[in-house]
Amino acid sequence: MRNFKRVKPLSWLALCSVLLISSAILFLFVNHTSFASKQSSNVKGVKPVYTFKNFSSDEELSNYPGLHLHTSIEGTDTYSMAINYPFTNISTIDQPIIDWIDQQKDAFLETVEGTSSEKNRFISHLNIQIETNIITKNKYNIILSAYHYVGGANGITYKQSFAIDIDNEEHIELNDIFIDPNSESFKEKLLHAIDNIIENNNEYKDTIDQNLVQDRMQDVENNMWGLTKDSFTIYFDEYEVGPGAIGAVELKIPINHLESYITNEWLETFELAEEIAERKKVEEEAKQQESSESEKDQTNVSDNDDGKYIALTFDDGPHPDVTPRILDTLNEYNAKATFFILGLQAEYYPALAAEVANQGHEVANHTYNHTDLTSLNHDQLINEIVTTNNKIEQATGNKPTLFRPPFGSYNEQVINVAEQNGLSIILWSVDSLDWKNRDLSTIYSTVTANASVGSTVLLHDIHPTTADALPEVLETLSAQGYQFVTVSELLNIQGKSGVGPF
Ligand code: ZN
Repeated sequence: MRNFKRVKPLSWLALCSVLLISSAILFLFVNHTSFASKQSSNVKGVKPVYTFKNFSSDEELSNYPGLHLHTSIEGTDTYSMAINYPFTNISTIDQPIIDWIDQQKDAFLETVEGTSSEKNRFISHLNIQIETNIITKNKYNIILSAYHYVGGANGITYKQSFAIDIDNEEHIELNDIFIDPNSESFKEKLLHAIDNIIENNNEYKDTIDQNLVQDRMQDVENNMWGLTKDSFTIYFDEYEVGPGAIGAVELKIPINHLESYITNEWLETFELAEEIAERKKVEEEAKQQESSESEKDQTNVSDNDDGKYIALTFDDGPHPDVTPRILDTLNEYNAKATFFILGLQAEYYPALAAEVANQGHEVANHTYNHTDLTSLNHDQLINEIVTTNNKIEQATGNKPTLFRPPFGSYNEQVINVAEQNGLSIILWSVDSLDWKNRDLSTIYSTVTANASVGSTVLLHDIHPTTADALPEVLETLSAQGYQFVTVSELLNIQGKSGVGPF
């Protein structure tokens, strides 16, 4: 039996009211600011030009034009947080998202504080994950999941869905998409479609309580919904309409089943979406072909070499501002490094991940969401690792063989899953503490004082100060005769093989 550890009732109530308030805020945020049309260089059938050296305007660098990814990671002795969220630099769009994130953080920290230190043998973890769905050009549906783990067998997940329209600088509401979404006839139509899905789903057929569904759907707008170019999805939380065993429920209604209720504007939108999907497919195929052609032999060190080698590693990226600066510096010092990439970052910035690989650096797996893996069950764990391998391979053409667990946190289960996926677990021997200090001279002195022959140095390519410090670090260590190789090359030199941890 699965044991769901719940947040204590009081905070849970607080969280619920907070969620209600946030929907209210969302509603208030619908404003109709002037239409700010953005030029796109994506012309049908033409591959976007990748201007790597010159992307202070990185609109086109993101796989999701107009959307950028923020990742922040922090921790203390009792908890860790890895927060991912998208942003647009348009405050009417960003603010409700940030507010929701803050509410999740506050609720989590309150729970951590409320946990008595006696019982506190574990490290609590909060992980905010993103699912990004393209509705059509410059319109996205973002599903944020906050995974709260405060001990026990499983954590608990709270979800929120945001549908955003970048061109109109607003959140999309149900009544933008559907004609009179509060009408009885729309509700009926929706319920009918939902019944159909449940009847045709073996798992849901006997478990979902249709009366509960009917109750929830009385106020359609209060339900969490999501949108893609071809479906409208209704979400229910764990336990909301059925037993805990079926988990959270997602009911995906084909958009054409609701056609008669779609506003004219959105009818056009959904048609346009098909064209865009077709174009993306063509671009994707061209990109895959290109990356397989440019695949290179990365090994430039022979076995049994007794030189002074160091493996520099950069985690949590690639980041559109920081990673290119780091690549430039590495190039200048003829240094090769290993980038432990987050699957989510590779999804957002595939061109950047490809550039890292194309410059001869090693691309490796650092999970999808930067979750503390010891807080996950087996399926969640496999998903974190396999999805990331796929994202990295799609972006770069290279299949990772190395894996670094976030926060260096792993257990027997993690070792097994890594092994099953052909991944060696790589830790580090020198922590630059760049994530903590964010200070050029401290990073410089920490690395240069501690690095020695065979060191694996932990750095992060999401902090500008790390890019600031790197030239001096490389200058000093090069002068001392060190050469910089990838982790796989270093393992090869050291004669290490197998799953590790190393
Ligand atoms: Zn990390």
